[in-house]
Amino acid sequence: MDTDVVIAGAGPTGLMLACELRLAGVDVVVVERLAERTGESRAGGMHSRTLEVLDQRGVLDRFLAAGELQPVGHFSGLWLDFDESESRHPYPLMILQNVIERLLEEWGTELGVRVRRSSEVTGIRQDEDGVTVELGTAEAPETLRARYLVGCDGGRSTVRKLAGIDFPGTPATMTALIGDVELPDLPEDYVWVRRVPGGDFSAIAFEPGWYRVITSDYENVSDRDEPATFEQLRESLVRLAGTDFGMHSPRWVSKFGDAARQAAQYRDGRVLLAGDAAHIHFPAGGQGLNMGVQDAVNLGWKLASVVRGQAPESLLDSYHDERHPVAERVLHNTRAQSALARPGAQTDALRDVFGSLMVFDDVNRHLRAMLTALDIRYALDGDHPLTGRRVPDADLKTSDGATRVYELLHAARPVLLDLRGSAEVAAAAEGWADRVDLVTARSEDDHWSVPVFGEIPAPAALLIRPDGHVAWAAADGAPDTAELRTALTTWCGPARQA
Ligand SMILES: Cc1cc2nc3c(=O)[nH]c(=O)nc-3n(C[C@H](O)[C@H](O)[C@H](O)COP(=O)(O)OP(=O)(O)OC[C@H]3O[C@@H](n4cnc5c(N)ncnc54)[C@H](O)[C@@H]3O)c2cc1C
Repeated sequence: MDTDVVIAGAGPTGLMLACELRLAGVDVVVVERLAERTGESRAGGMHSRTLEVLDQRGVLDRFLAAGELQPVGHFSGLWLDFDESESRHPYPLMILQNVIERLLEEWGTELGVRVRRSSEVTGIRQDEDGVTVELGTAEAPETLRARYLVGCDGGRSTVRKLAGIDFPGTPATMTALIGDVELPDLPEDYVWVRRVPGGDFSAIAFEPGWYRVITSDYENVSDRDEPATFEQLRESLVRLAGTDFGMHSPRWVSKFGDAARQAAQYRDGRVLLAGDAAHIHFPAGGQGLNMGVQDAVNLGWKLASVVRGQAPESLLDSYHDERHPVAERVLHNTRAQSALARPGAQTDALRDVFGSLMVFDDVNRHLRAMLTALDIRYALDGDHPLTGRRVPDADLKTSDGATRVYELLHAARPVLLDLRGSAEVAAAAEGWADRVDLVTARSEDDHWSVPVFGEIPAPAALLIRPDGHVAWAAADGAPDTAELRTALTTWCGPARQA
């Protein structure tokens, strides 16, 4: 074997996955078609759960320093408020995708991730022991042999096609042009989704000196293989806004639509898919990059456990089972956002009514939790309200001093957090001591806030997976250690024999 895992694509998903695998000590090579990063940015922000995930790994400060927190978000251009009780990071961070990629790659380099550029996956063959990955490179074709291949190679994923995985969904019904340009004649600081007959346009100040212009045309769906031009963007802006605001000096022009598709399976034997390779949708609400990073965090520790021989291969099926429904829901909400954006008097009225509902706390909370992914609950066994949800970042006191839950997750290992000093909990987990960090602590708060669900009494003990989701939790009283052992076996593999 040349390496344990080959990742196709050095976008946000591939880079995050590579970091997760390296944290678990797995050898990984990222192969990237492009010779260098383009400097272009489709995404411009990250939501609360992604910020939490970076916090769980101890690298969030790097991202916060390179972006700007925004006090609001939006659902199809309609403003959404945020709530400080739900997360330590309750606001979207405005940060350009190329900066996110640079920071992830820098972190990856520190962890020993190898990125091979000018290396395009052109063929794959899998057998019982591994996958042979054929690469087109600047020099001669090459092959790499690995135990697993993960396609993080974007919406047109070659890996997905070569693996023969279906990508069903709905085709685009509109075309949006996007360009980063200078706009000397714009009368205001920014223009936010201005609706006009036939479509809408926005011009948002992204960084000093330049604007991101987006025009949406609902009358024509352009050929997706035909590249967008600056002239098309200018014509489209003139048609919709009546002026081009003196637009010049484009840094980047592209286009997107509202096609929504999802891979039928996220795994075919030794080949897995993550990020845009597994799902594409209208970019409303800024969820795609976030979801890709979170796919990577769900998959990384599972793949590492299987590669290290600690857990059976079947653990990888839980990746599809948990993440496929998450993307299904995002496709659903972005289809709704696309419908709410269509021009016409009926949609104007619908937006008006929808907007009037969004002022109600419950509606706002529901939409906010959906966009930020703070309300995700995987279908795990167990009745405790935390089971399957992401763990709140509670303040803790240990014998070594103050800490918080996310600091315990920096090493990307499972954590058994015992908040009552129970001898039974420690004894039950003995067989997993090589893989699971047992931490005894006291919660600083009697109650923990769970997004959408509300306040719950601080639990007595909980098993937290490396992705920050709770695999098992006990309220006060005698902890069910048989249930704990089942959860440990399911997520961490069989106990070590004494
Ligand atoms: C206008 C717009 C705005 C957006 N805004 C947001 C936002 O604010 N927030 C958000 O969360 N999301 C946003 N998104 C979505 C986001 O950009 C994507 O979801 C994200 O880029 C997906 O990351 P990825 O790593 O999965 O794929 P990609 O970023 O597409 O990366 C795939 C990588 O694989 C490489 N590759 C492709 N084929 C091969 C091959 N055969 N071999 C090797 N390498 C290959 C590519 O060169 C690329 O580097 C937006 C999208 C658009 C269009």
